[in-house]
Amino acid sequence: MRSGFQTGYVRSRGSGARRDKNPIRRQRFPVYGDRIVRKKAGGSGDIIYIRIFIAAGARPAAPNIPGLESTPYMTSREALRRTELPKSMIVIGGGFIALELGFAYSAFGSDVTFLVRNRMLKNEDREIADEFERVFSENHRVLLHTDIQKVEYSNNTFLVDVVADGKPLRLESEALLVAAGIRPNTDLLGLENTDVQTDERGYIRVNEYLETSVPNVYALGDILGRYFYRHSVNFEGEFLFRTLYQEKKRSPIEYPPVPHAVFTHPQVAKVGKTEEELIAEKIDYISVKNPYSASATGMARLSDSGFIKLLAEKKTGRVLGAHAIGDEASNVIHLFILLMTMNGTVDDLLRMIYIHPSLPEIARNAARKAKELLQTN
Ligand SMILES: Cc1cc2nc3c(=O)[nH]c(=O)nc-3n(C[C@H](O)[C@H](O)[C@H](O)COP(=O)(O)OP(=O)(O)OC[C@H]3O[C@@H](n4cnc5c(N)ncnc54)[C@H](O)[C@@H]3O)c2cc1C
Repeated sequence: MRSGFQTGYVRSRGSGARRDKNPIRRQRFPVYGDRIVRKKAGGSGDIIYIRIFIAAGARPAAPNIPGLESTPYMTSREALRRTELPKSMIVIGGGFIALELGFAYSAFGSDVTFLVRNRMLKNEDREIADEFERVFSENHRVLLHTDIQKVEYSNNTFLVDVVADGKPLRLESEALLVAAGIRPNTDLLGLENTDVQTDERGYIRVNEYLETSVPNVYALGDILGRYFYRHSVNFEGEFLFRTLYQEKKRSPIEYPPVPHAVFTHPQVAKVGKTEEELIAEKIDYISVKNPYSASATGMARLSDSGFIKLLAEKKTGRVLGAHAIGDEASNVIHLFILLMTMNGTVDDLLRMIYIHPSLPEIARNAARKAKELLQTN
């Protein structure tokens, strides 16, 4: 059995006047064997570990809008906990959190106005974002290219002065949701007392083993600034558990293509590259789109919008990206998630038998178009 001393980190959990402002401190502590030592010390109730996993996440960041800070606006946190339905609501932000929450309030009956600085879902493939804006705007009040000048709160009403597409407007609402970005929680951890390094945006730097710059201190999840999804932090957590406690073998994390979805109507889902990324990376590709309406299930559902977009490498037919907008996009995309994880091609998509009628037939029809294009190029 190995024993001796090792430099480790102490997370202080004092309370009241004894609460430690800098909760993580470096300290030498005893090691017993090669198992993780968990030892409760006396005094302030410190808990000592050989390994620390930092998964403290991120929190909403407030944009710099004059007057906003002195109003009782909601972030996603309050919006998720609110029990009263406001008659009207303004949502500031065009990312998935703003859209999903605003959409949910709208579905419950609030009159929701979305204020978006530039475009909605600006990180999605351009054609998907275009279709989303078109369809979503048919059912919701959306102001794009909006510059918010000032926010006030008086007589239980939010007053928001904006310039939208060059025109000044004053909007009023009972509730205001601000979901215009997030920031890492690293500033709340007292990391300045440690050698754990952060990047210029404040996210924790880790290597390919998810180790921080301090031995035996790992980090995962939003606080890395890589991916901001529940399923990606789950993947990282499972990786750490497997390599450290099951296999006990140091091996680097290898992310398969990381998918995501936006749970609005229409739904959006994505895996792999966008067309804009392929252009920027100078990859020779083909791009095809197949509408929901061109499949039996799409017709039966009377789909008048939505499509699947498939991007494949011209030379090999390898699928590089898949995007879906429409009913159950988050389910339909799984066909492509598996395919891309297995490094599959357009031909692979056409090898299997699809149930008729079913939504994945839209994917098959996109693959047929891609095959034709690959043969003629
Ligand atoms: C409205 C909303 C909807 C979302 N929808 C989806 C979705 O549909 N699908 C999806 O994949 N992802 C979604 N996400 C993103 C997803 O929630 C995050 O990516 C995921 O939770 C990140 O996990 P994490 O463990 O890194 O951080 P978190 O889940 O944020 O957990 C961090 C934890 O650390 C705690 N903490 C922070 N500081 C300290 C401290 N100093 N000491 C002790 N504890 C601390 C926090 O209280 C929190 O409990 C959504 C996020 C929001 C806000």
